[in-house]
Amino acid sequence: MSAFIFNELNFDDHEQVVFVSEPKSGLKGIIAVHNTNLGPAMGGCRMWNYASEALAVNDVLRLSKGMTYKNAVAGLPIGGGKSVIIGNPKAKTPALFEALGEALERLGGRYITAEDVGTSPEDMASVAKKTRYVAGLGASGDPSPFTALGCFVGAQAAIKHHLQRDSFEGLTVAVQGLGHVGYDYARRLHAAGAKLVVADIDMAALERARTELGATVVAPDVIYDVEADIYAPCALGATLNPDTLGRLKARIVAGAANNQLATAEVGEMLRQKGVLYAPDFVINAGGIIKVCYEYLKKPEADVEAHVREIGDTLAEIFARADAQGRATSVVADEVAQARFKR
Ligand code: NAD
Repeated sequence: MSAFIFNELNFDDHEQVVFVSEPKSGLKGIIAVHNTNLGPAMGGCRMWNYASEALAVNDVLRLSKGMTYKNAVAGLPIGGGKSVIIGNPKAKTPALFEALGEALERLGGRYITAEDVGTSPEDMASVAKKTRYVAGLGASGDPSPFTALGCFVGAQAAIKHHLQRDSFEGLTVAVQGLGHVGYDYARRLHAAGAKLVVADIDMAALERARTELGATVVAPDVIYDVEADIYAPCALGATLNPDTLGRLKARIVAGAANNQLATAEVGEMLRQKGVLYAPDFVINAGGIIKVCYEYLKKPEADVEAHVREIGDTLAEIFARADAQGRATSVVADEVAQARFKR
């Protein structure tokens, strides 16, 4: 087993990986604390019907490392961690999350959880029955509007840097996914004068975007081919790959989705194609900023100003990447490492 973990592609000197099994509730989970140099590790709990335990290990290692980078670049006093529960989210029970809460309590605050794919504020309320090391409890609301705000200020920084534009008037944005983040982001872009081309698999969301935002609707796979200035991935990961790169007409990529690059090399491929890429973990940090403020009981009134700093951070990354002739994704990794590595 140890050979498997240490040779695992996503193992990155994680500080602690804890396997949790609790037969009464049926909990089978993994908690990964990647790095706590900047503070206790924070990151959501994902519940997923993983096809194998190895895939669950791989996911929690990858996601927890990503949180360290995201939290560091966002200037938050927290480290990176993540947890996964192996199982079908449709079959979840409060007991499962109470058992997770007990496991977090045993970690003594080294890892703080929150909701993620497959988990909800109600599940976090169950965790909170057993531990205080949990955030995103619902009372403070959905973090998505803050993620959308971060994407909007990030896109502003991108058009200024790459297109020498201060306004979205006359620009077209191809938005993939009109969910919690994508719709709010699209609404802001529309209010700022952008034309929208949108794709989703949810017909109601498409109809709403058409009537409320004057958006042009295209089929999910066609979104890569549309004539647009900005491509905004707000649905799935790994949508930037050699296939889609050959099709994209946009000069900027600025969207909320996690893990947009199918492989690290795609960052350099985007640069060579003349496409400015706003690194995902920088532009989509608005939600974790909001959740972190809630957990640390910092003034809610200061959240927006902190989220708006995402625009300044990206402007610095874009300028440094240009000056050095390197990919924005590589520069963003270095900015994070300079903050959290000892
Ligand atoms: P969501 O589930 O509310 O929305 C996703 C949308 O994408 C849905 O409307 C869904 O129908 C659509 N979709 C699914 N498959 C699609 C396809 N093939 N083509 C087009 N659309 C498709 O999720 P969300 O909270 O809005 O998050 C969107 C993305 O941003 C995710 O990748 C998420 O991990 C990431 N993210 C979200 C937050 C947040 O605060 N919610 C923070 C950071 C990152």
